[in-house]
Parts: sequence; structure tokens; C-alpha cells
Amino acid sequence: MTLDDVAGRFAYDPDHEAFRQTVRQFLRKEGVPNVAEWEANRLVPPAFWRAAGAVGLLCPTVPEEYGGLGLDFGYNAIVNEELSYNGVPAGFTLQSDIVVGYLEHYGSEEQKRHWLPRMVSGETISAIAMTEPGTGSDLQAIRTTARRDGNHYVLNGSKTYITNGQNADLVLVVAKTDPAAKPAYKGMSIILVKADRDGFRRGRKLDKIGQDAADTSELFFDDVRVPITSCLGEEGKGFVYLMSQLPQERLSIAVGAQGSAQKAFDETVAFTKDRKAFAGVVFDFQNTRFVLAGLKAKLQVGWAHLDWAIKRHLAGALTNEEGAAAKLWHTDLQWEVMDACLQLHGGAGYMNEYPIARAWRSARVSRIYGGTNEIMKEVIGRKL
Ligand SMILES: Cc1cc2nc3c(=O)[nH]c(=O)nc-3n(C[C@H](O)[C@H](O)[C@H](O)COP(=O)(O)OP(=O)(O)OC[C@H]3O[C@@H](n4cnc5c(N)ncnc54)[C@H](O)[C@@H]3O)c2cc1C
Repeated sequence: MTLDDVAGRFAYDPDHEAFRQTVRQFLRKEGVPNVAEWEANRLVPPAFWRAAGAVGLLCPTVPEEYGGLGLDFGYNAIVNEELSYNGVPAGFTLQSDIVVGYLEHYGSEEQKRHWLPRMVSGETISAIAMTEPGTGSDLQAIRTTARRDGNHYVLNGSKTYITNGQNADLVLVVAKTDPAAKPAYKGMSIILVKADRDGFRRGRKLDKIGQDAADTSELFFDDVRVPITSCLGEEGKGFVYLMSQLPQERLSIAVGAQGSAQKAFDETVAFTKDRKAFAGVVFDFQNTRFVLAGLKAKLQVGWAHLDWAIKRHLAGALTNEEGAAAKLWHTDLQWEVMDACLQLHGGAGYMNEYPIARAWRSARVSRIYGGTNEIMKEVIGRKL
């Protein structure tokens, strides 16, 4: 099975679908065979990023003048779908769907000329550092500061759970440039920090329950000096910029959730048709068929909704609440599918050698990161 077997998609045109074949071929050749090794090392090597960049998988939306392909978000979504369906755990979506948007929209000409071509080629791996040991959901409570000192900012603080933290060459750090500002969000800025700066330190590669190959780290900033030209856009606008990018970030998580749920479903159909029990196979039980039928119906609804959301985003119309709803619904669906599929595997479902076990562990975080699903309900509920 592949995602070509999902009937009636309507988000994409033939060029998108042709791109999908390139993405899939690349991932199956360069990604899938190496996943076990990356999981053992708990890191995807930078060389894989560069190989992906060479075939156009990174940051497809970057305009040609900055070294990109100048394509639409549909191409990002296709990379995301294929990564999640094929179980390749690269941190590409964080770079392509999240970080690059900040530079494209708010970066100075100099920042764009320097960083965008490198992010497209994979020479630069990026991270965005918001969460701190003391706060996640309540972003305005961050304590990392970036104080002005002449022509420099001096950063102090620590961040945690940062995706691509070990590999990152560039970190977009959310910091308080005016800690006394009221309300607090008016004192927040996004500062570009190169990982070779004195005082910047990577902490532990964090030990997670899932997404074994994903690089998730602590980062420390001790009197890190960066030129004031490292501020993204205007000082004090960081929080506003973060809010403006949320629909795409949340849609991106929804896309990955739906892709991985479909994969778990397809594998479980195959597994239950093969696994012998009593006089036949597990698939023969009415319970198995009913469970799978229920999931199939929800996945069908899910693809229709996802295509609606992708098209709406391509038209620039996806609202913050709609993005939050997509993240909420698709990640809840992902968890429901994973858990039911694991159950249908019996004891094999609990063994890491079976893909469903690793997929189940990895799926758990989708309802937590990118804003927890409780926060998604807050976002939706506030506008009712
Ligand atoms: C694998 C992984 C990768 C990550 N990658 C990144 C990254 O690249 N960059 C980054 O900055 N962060 C990253 N994060 C952090 C992630 O975004 C946060 O963990 C998440 O936003 C939740 O914040 P928290 O952990 O501080 O939980 P808390 O905010 O402490 O929440 C604890 C509980 O309280 C609930 N809660 C909090 N506020 C409310 C409320 N107002 N109403 C109802 N319930 C509430 C939450 O829903 C949750 O159930 C990552 C996390 C993980 C696990």
C-alpha cells in the first residue's frame, strides 16, 4: 500500500502528485533502510538533510531568488505525508513548515539571503526554542532574556524539548527583550542565534518514550552575544509573529498525524489477515472487521477534512481556530487508530520490533507538542 491508494483526494494537482513520487522514491532509498540505525543513535545524520535538500525536499516554498523552488505549501504537506506514512523520522517539517516561515515573512533581506539558501540545501539545520523548563503552554511566562548592550543583545536562559536541538546550526530563540513590558507579550522578540556563538551550549539529547530518532534537546544560553541585526523583524513583535504562523504549524502536525494513522491502519489490515488464530486468521473475527471498519470510516472523513484544510490554507483562509481544530481532531484520531491497531496485534503490538509498537509510542506526543490539545480547545472555545 501507498498513499496513492487513498481515494478521492482533492488538495493536490498533478504536479504535486508527480513530486510525491520523487519524495517517496527518495525516502524509500535513502531513508527507510537507515531508520533502525538512526533510532539506535537517536539522531538523524546531517548528511541525510543535505541529500534531501539536493532533491528538493526541504523548504519547497522558499522563492527562487533565495535558492528555493518557489512552490506552495501543498508540496510541504506531501513531504510530510510521505515522511509519516513511510515512518522516516526526520525533523524536516520543523524547518520547512515552521522555521522557514518566520524568515520568509519577517526576516531582513540580509537574513533571508544568508539563511534561506542554506536551509533549502540542508547545509543549515534550524530549531525554534520557545519552551523552557518552567513554562510551555504559558509562553508569555518565559524567562530567557535578550538585553541590549550597545550594538548587541546578550542572551541568558535555558530552553528544553527543542526539536533539532543537537543538529541545529541556527536557533530562533524566543526571548524577552523587555522583561518589564505589560502585557508581557509586548516585550517578546525572536532572536537568531548561530550555534557557534560563545556561551551557547547544547544539553542532553533527551530520553523520550517515542520518536526515538528525533533529536530533542535542552539548550543553554550564558551571556551569548549576538549583533542587534539578529532580531527577527521588529523588537517586541515576537509573540505577534508566533501567533501569525500558528495555522500552518498546526495544520502541519495534523498532516503528519493523518499520514501515520493511515500507515498503522494499512499495516494492521495486513497483519490481521496473516495472523492465525483458532480456525482462521484474526481478520476473520467480526470484532476485528468492525474495529477496522470504524477506523476506515474515520480515516476517510479525516482525508476529506485534511484536503479541505490544506486547500483553505493554500487560499490563505485557514483561521487560527480552524488550524487548532485540525491539530486537535487529527491527533486524537491518530491516537485512536494507533491504540486500536496495537490491540489488534496482540502481544506483537507491545514488541518494539513491530512497527506498530514504535508508531504507537511516537504518536503519543502529537497531542502534546505544537500546543497541547487542551490549549487547542481553549483557542477554539475562546471564539465561540
Ligand atoms: C518531542 C517534543 C518536541 C518538542 N519540540 C519543541 C520545539 O521544537 N520547540 C519548542 O519550543 N517546544 C517544543 N516542545 C515543547 C512543547 O511544545 C510543550 O511541551 C507543550 O507546548 C506543552 O508545554 P509544557 O510541556 O510546558 O506543558 P504544561 O504547559 O506544563 O502543561 C501541562 C498540562 O497542563 C495543561 N494545561 C496548561 N495550560 C492549560 C490551560 N490554559 N487550560 C487547560 N489545560 C492547560 C496542558 O494541556 C497539559 O496537559 C516539544 C515537546 C516535545 C515533547
